[in-house]
Parts: sequence; structure tokens; C-alpha cells
Amino acid sequence: MALPRRRFDTLIIGAGGAGLNAALQLADSGARVAVVSKVFPTRSHTVAAQGGVNAALGNKLPDDWHWHMFDTVKGGDYLGDQDAIEFMCREAVPTVYELEHHGVPFSRFADGRIYQRPFGGMTRDFGGEQATRTCAAADRTGHAILHTLYQQNLRARTHFFDEYWAVDLLRDEEGVALGALVLCIETGEPLLVEARTTLVATGGCGQLFRTTTNAHINTGDGMAMCLRAGIPIQDLEFFQFHPTGIAGKGMLITEGARGEGGYLENKDGERLMARYAPHAKDLASRDVVSRAIAVEVREGRGCGPDGDHVLLRLDHLGERVVAERLPGIRDLCRTFLHLDPARDPIPVFPTAHYAMGGIPTDRFGRVVAPARHGPEEVVPGLYAAGECACVSVHGANRLGGNSLLDILVFGRAAGRDILAFLEANPHHRPTEEAAVERAMARLERWERKGEGESPQALRDELQRLMEDHCGVFRDRATMAEGLQRLEALRARIAEARLQDHSRVFNTARIEALELENLADLALAMVTCAHAREESRGAHSRVDFPERDDRNWMKHSLFFLEGARVDYKPVRTRPLTVESFPPKKRVY
Ligand SMILES: Cc1cc2nc3c(=O)[nH]c(=O)nc-3n(C[C@H](O)[C@H](O)[C@H](O)COP(=O)(O)OP(=O)(O)OC[C@H]3O[C@@H](n4cnc5c(N)ncnc54)[C@H](O)[C@@H]3O)c2cc1C
Repeated sequence: MALPRRRFDTLIIGAGGAGLNAALQLADSGARVAVVSKVFPTRSHTVAAQGGVNAALGNKLPDDWHWHMFDTVKGGDYLGDQDAIEFMCREAVPTVYELEHHGVPFSRFADGRIYQRPFGGMTRDFGGEQATRTCAAADRTGHAILHTLYQQNLRARTHFFDEYWAVDLLRDEEGVALGALVLCIETGEPLLVEARTTLVATGGCGQLFRTTTNAHINTGDGMAMCLRAGIPIQDLEFFQFHPTGIAGKGMLITEGARGEGGYLENKDGERLMARYAPHAKDLASRDVVSRAIAVEVREGRGCGPDGDHVLLRLDHLGERVVAERLPGIRDLCRTFLHLDPARDPIPVFPTAHYAMGGIPTDRFGRVVAPARHGPEEVVPGLYAAGECACVSVHGANRLGGNSLLDILVFGRAAGRDILAFLEANPHHRPTEEAAVERAMARLERWERKGEGESPQALRDELQRLMEDHCGVFRDRATMAEGLQRLEALRARIAEARLQDHSRVFNTARIEALELENLADLALAMVTCAHAREESRGAHSRVDFPERDDRNWMKHSLFFLEGARVDYKPVRTRPLTVESFPPKKRVY
């Protein structure tokens, strides 16, 4: 097929923190790297990260990466792979210093060291007192990191394809990754990017839900591309609901607000978390706090005329703390709620936030998937990092401040492993034309216009369905009904058409393609959640309220073909230290 083609050593799909940190390792080593992003790189969702990134620097209180590791294993309700967790927590310290040397403008303590704040689930001495581990640039940490990485990539001469949309991955008959078909959003022209290695760094899929902290662009494209390429998605039933979304709107109030001393209150003026987490209270892990708020509201202790939220109080912290440490939160509250958090409480309710699951990888960022008829193996030339990947360091529930860490550590690790792969595989392989044609067929389907339901209306319906059938609390009947409704909705999506106006914008085509991606991921999430008959981390089954290590301490793998679920064991053995055996999780 005569398509325009460009050739690079590495194609990186996604210009968030994961993609850019990988690109920097590669470009600085002289590799020819292309980064494709559907939005201008500094608009990638990493820019929205507020509270900070965890590293046991010990700038305020003594700290140790081993304590960080313990907290992460426990926070993930023992589903995380302990080798990857050890690697991440050890690497956290040099990673943050590397960022500092790249020029990230961290906030500072009076003695000049990087500012650190307390975050949920972080303790000292293996479950003791609260740790102060989260390195922050006020409440705009992601903004500071993303802009710095972008500038460093410009210096290193990384090639950017801004506002290009990746349609599908290309693999040959032997399963080797060969690049991707992408679409220029401005012109609508397809482009073939051929590469010896491909890194998927496309971020999360929070647009599966109606009320979400995630931007419109977070449609899980990379995960869905992998599903179509025959690669399963791991642990997607574990989806985090952040406790403090602005009620009814979803925008995030960072956990850093509670780290600075904020607390949650119910309609009777009680500090509600004392009931659910007597020790850690408002800094218990997110799944615990989200469920506590949902229970308060369900039992009639919610605030407001409809009793549908609780209050987050920061007014006792004083003007100076709010202005210096939480300026972005203050702006957000003024803009969307017309209130000043230095004086007024903020109405909050749990909101969809973060996918713990994703494309299965090892700690070098290499995608690992079961071979067609055999055991799990590395997919040659294919890498994934960031929120779209599942290493798995977050297990069943991510701790705040660990995602920025994940994207940076594993973005860098992937970059380094790719260099080794490039050295061992110096030649491009021929592009498989059949794979190109399959990807083109996806594009062509949305060139047909005419009568039919609009993708936008169907996306709204999908988001409501997910909220109703796969939210904070789940049970068999609700999810079984959700699966039935989803099947019907997917059939309608297959028949949907762009409306027959004389002009159809490319963005409308892309939203339609994104809807297909979301529909596949919705199926993965509900299928796996329905199958997992236990409660663990963010997956809370009313009908199976206990964690069941005997039957369910295993990762799920969802395959699109046949909507099949398989399982694989959790890697409980760390790299150099003793493993942390599962214990009852209390805060
Ligand atoms: C409001 C908010 C606050 C947060 N605060 C924190 C925090 O304080 N600490 C913390 O640790 N974590 C935080 N998180 C989580 C963390 O920010 C994200 O998990 C992380 O930044 C994701 O980074 P990423 O590189 O994986 O993806 P992203 O930054 O989301 O980047 C994805 C990239 O992929 C591109 N892309 C996607 N699909 C396509 C496609 N089809 N074609 C081409 N390009 C594509 C996008 O354009 C983008 O460049 C927060 C999240 C939110 C929503």
C-alpha cells in the first residue's frame, strides 16, 4: 500500500512523563527517536499531576526505600510484584535527583533541600508513624516535570509528531513489533512510522467513567491497540476511585491537601476517618478513604441538600499554607466552586482516577504476553511504560505519589533496555502489508457517513453504564447486568456512523475511534471484575467482602479474542530483600 513512511530506531507513542523520560535516555545516546502524541506534548495528562512523587530522600524525617517498598506492597493489597516494587523504590532516590539535575523546580525546605510532604499509606519503619516522602513542586508537580522533560528532549533532538493519533500497532507474522500506523489530526492523512522498537506510553483510560479526574484524551488507546494486536491486558478490574474529587464535577483535589493537614468531615461535623482508619485517619490508603466516604453518604451522613458528598476542610491551615503549598487547588476551587479553601470547606466525593492494570510488562518495560500456544514470553521490540502499563507495582491499589514515580522509573528503564535491543538488532525488518491493511480498515470504517447513532451519545452512555455497573462497590448481579448491557451497546457502536454533514472534522473521526477503544476496555474491566470473587484493594465486592489469598492471589489477563480471562501468579519474591507475606491490611 502506497502510504507515506518514516523510519526511526524507536517509535514512542505518548509524550507524557513515561514517553518523554524514555525518549530522553534514547536521544541522549544517539538513537533516532520519534515521539507521537495526540496532543501537544506539554498538554499530556502528566501535566495535571498535583501532589508529588515519592522517594525516600529523608529530607524532613529519616526514611528508607525499604519502608517505601513495604508501604507499596501493603498499599497494593499484596497483588503487586515484589521484584518490580523493590526496583521502583530503590530507583526512586536517584530518579528524583536526576530530575532535579534536569532542572525540575521542586519546592524547597528552608535549608534548600527538596520539599517533601506526607501522603496516604506512607509510613516509617514498616508500618509505624506517618512518613514524609512525597517530593513536590507546590501542587503543580506534574507540570514542572513534564515541561522540564520536554525541554530536555528538545535539547537532545528527539523528533516530535505533535497532534498525530496512533491507530494501531504493526507486528509481523513472528509477532515482532514494527511500528504503527498514525494519523495526522490536522490533515487526516495516514502515515506509517516504521521502527525497530516501539514503546507504548499512552497513559490511562479514566474516560471509561462519567465523573473522572482524567482529561478527555485519556481513552486507553495504547491498551486497546495491544488487545487488538493479540496481547492481553492485566488486572484491569483494579481501577482507583480518588476520594477527593470535587463533588458532582470530578476535578481532583490532591491528596497533598490532606498531607498538609486537611481532613474530611460529615454532616454532623465528625472527622469521619477516625471511624474507618483509627491510626492513619485521613492519610489511609485511597481505596479505604473512598469507601469510607461512600458509606457515610449511603448511611445518611452526607452533606448538602441531597446528602451526596462530604466536606474537605483546609480552612484551619491558614492563608499562608494554602497560598504557598496548594495554590493550584485554590485556583480550581475559585474557578469551579466560587469558594476559597482557605476559608470554606470543599464538597468532595470519590471520582474515577487511575488504572492499576494495563499492558503486562517486566521491570525493563518489555511487554510480556503468552505466546500463541505457550508460556509467557517477551514480545520482541515492543515496550510499554506509564499508566498504560502494568509492571505490576501498584497491585490492587496505587498509593498517591507512586504513579509519577512509576512513569519516570520505568520510562527510563525501558529507554535503557531499548538501547540494548537496538544494538542486538541493527536492521529494520520488512513491514507486513497485511498488518497495515488491517489498521487502514479501521480508519476507513469511519469514513462511511450516514444515518446511525452518534459516537458522542454512545460514549456518554458507556460512561454511565460503567459508573452504574462497575463503580466503587460491585456485586455479581449488577455486573452481570452491566455485561449484558455492554454487549448490546457494543453492537450499537459497531453500527454507529458519523453524521452526514457535508464536513466532518478529523477530531470527530478520532472520537469515534476512541470510543471503540473504550468499548474494548470496558468489556475487559467488567469481565475481569465479574470473574474476581473477592475484595482486594480498589476491587470491592459486596457479595465477597474478604480478600481471598488462597484462590485469588493472582493477576488476571483479559484477551479480546473470545473475551477470555486467564490468570498468572503474583511474583512474591523481591530482588535482594526478604519478601513481605500477605497480612490483614489495616491503617
Ligand atoms: C488530576 C490528576 C492528578 C494526579 N496527581 C498525581 C500526583 O500528584 N502524583 C502521582 O504520582 N500521580 C498523580 N496522578 C497520576 C499521574 O499523573 C498519571 O498516572 C501519569 O502522569 C500518567 O503518565 P503517562 O506518561 O503514563 O501518560 P500521560 O501523561 O497521560 O500521557 C499520555 C500520552 O499519550 C498520548 N496518546 C494517548 N493516546 C494516543 C494515541 N492514540 N495516539 C497518539 N498519542 C496518544 C497523549 O497525547 C499523551 O502524550 C494524577 C493524575 C491526575 C488525573
